[in-house]
Amino acid sequence: MSQTMTSTTVEVNTIVDLLQLRARENPCSTAYTFLRYGEAANESVSYFELDTRARAIASVLRQKGGEGRQVLLLYPSGIDYMAAYFGCLYAGAIAIPAYPPHSQRALPRIQAIVDDASASIVLTTSTIADKVQQWTENVAGLERLTWLTTDAVDVSIADAWIAPDIDGDSLAFLQYTSGSTSSPKGVMVSHTNLLHNLSMLHDQLGITSDSVGVSWLPIFHDMGLIAGMLLPLYGNVPSVFMTPADFLQRPLRWLQAITDYKGTFSCAPNFAYELCMRRIGESDLASLDLSSWTVALNGAEPIRAETLHRFTQMFAGRGFRSTTFMPGFGLAENTLMVCCEQLDNAPYIKNISQSALEENLVIAAGAAIDDVQQLVGCGGAVREKGVDIVIVNPETFQACNVDEVGEIWVSGPSVTRGYWQRPEETAQTMQAHLATGEGPFLRTGDLGAYQNGQLFVTGRLKDLIILGGRNYYPQDIEKTVELSHPALRPGCSAAFSIEHEQEERLVVMVEVDHRYNFAKDGLSEHAARQEILKNIRRSIADYHDLSVYKVALLRINGIHKTSSGKVQRRSCRAAFLRNDFKEWRA
Ligand code: ATP
Ligand code: MG
Repeated sequence: MSQTMTSTTVEVNTIVDLLQLRARENPCSTAYTFLRYGEAANESVSYFELDTRARAIASVLRQKGGEGRQVLLLYPSGIDYMAAYFGCLYAGAIAIPAYPPHSQRALPRIQAIVDDASASIVLTTSTIADKVQQWTENVAGLERLTWLTTDAVDVSIADAWIAPDIDGDSLAFLQYTSGSTSSPKGVMVSHTNLLHNLSMLHDQLGITSDSVGVSWLPIFHDMGLIAGMLLPLYGNVPSVFMTPADFLQRPLRWLQAITDYKGTFSCAPNFAYELCMRRIGESDLASLDLSSWTVALNGAEPIRAETLHRFTQMFAGRGFRSTTFMPGFGLAENTLMVCCEQLDNAPYIKNISQSALEENLVIAAGAAIDDVQQLVGCGGAVREKGVDIVIVNPETFQACNVDEVGEIWVSGPSVTRGYWQRPEETAQTMQAHLATGEGPFLRTGDLGAYQNGQLFVTGRLKDLIILGGRNYYPQDIEKTVELSHPALRPGCSAAFSIEHEQEERLVVMVEVDHRYNFAKDGLSEHAARQEILKNIRRSIADYHDLSVYKVALLRINGIHKTSSGKVQRRSCRAAFLRNDFKEWRA
């Protein structure tokens, strides 16, 4: 599939064509602006400069035999990374975005990717190479890597560039999944996949020539790379970046950048909106003007109606509108986005019966106020772009009835080519067929229902907790746990079940903030511990009618998480069973 772009009729079949087009037609336009420390804008790059740097890096990479090979990118967020990413594509190499290890302890993560992808070349900056190379000297599999630093590549070599022999089917990059449920898998994303997803994002997010992107998302993950970095290039609009660390340290910087640069679209997972509410004070509000913001895509993890509501309330006085929120659903296996709410619509929130959900049904809540759960609609399939979504019984492969919860299956041009060197998992996941023979579909591994043209995601199939024949979603139990005592850390708990005496039992692990002032409550820490345990058990009994088999109170950072901050419940469960966790002791 090729796309025709701009006033002049130009065929764009690959991301290389796209950047070349921009460099030809708008050489001096600023492609990316990078905010150092999240505040000062002291680095930017034009399309011409980016294309030149990409050609120079590609020329060097080709001399090293990089064409058609898997190349690991180890960069912090920044323009060096962007140039190297495009340099890889310009060389016809397969880019593998990853992030630089901060310490030797992070090497196994890199080692796993290098092994899995059979990568032989690393592109990085001189600073990172100096630091990391000494750690990898004696590490099996890492010692034989060829290191290439790109910050010092002489741009005069750009003229030696020869266009790679690639087409839409060629792989643009391997996207390693987050590793929430198992070890990360390399998803093979082609240029055609990318262009299809970009065209969908472009239309759904309503990108126009007046749009401005703002992003702090990690650029080695799909949302940061595609919606953050490639979408502005695709839409020919400027964008402003900061590192995730600068955002996490001071979330106000994100909203300040939207204010200062009149940002119109900016995407982030639900936790980021929560973080803003927790860490931005009343006195900071005055400096913000969020009236330019038309799209706040919220996805990549469960979306809470309550978060949307409170965020809108808190920032309404600063020009934020509820219609700006755009809930969306996606996964690396479908390049990035599957679907999202329509532009200018306020989020569609459905009050459903909690007890019916435990029996796999999504039906409107009745009069009982303690039997209500809110689900947020993620919009519907963009059929005119060849996308289809069906809800399927994961055991029988029959399509579900409209009120039934089932696995979300997707088809369309964004479904990727599979997992790198895993033909069996690729066949199971990307080439599924309904019992009627219809297909192929991508099995997302997520559960949900599709009603009134809206997809409602209820949770992950692999994380579902089944107790006494009823279905419980860990994120609901975790929320209850976290709210049961102020010393418990939000977003830092895991609920799962283990088998005990032939029965599944509920276990929760949760981090306790040791900085919490227990003395203020007039309690010794020992008494506080008893109180926390009592609150957790009582809340779970009250809200879910469940009894907890074991509660583990953990020290800060005790909950296993992915590099994108998602809770790894299976990994937590394994640690619990091995008795390998750091308990908080009062
Ligand atoms: P792994 O596949 O390695 O276990 P991962 O699934 O977290 O990790 P990603 O592809 O980065 O890796 O994330 C996609 C997943 O994020 C989806 O499959 C889904 O579980 C979750 N997700 C995305 N959007 C939403 C949403 N709107 N609501 C709930 N969950 C979502
Ligand atoms: Mg996944």
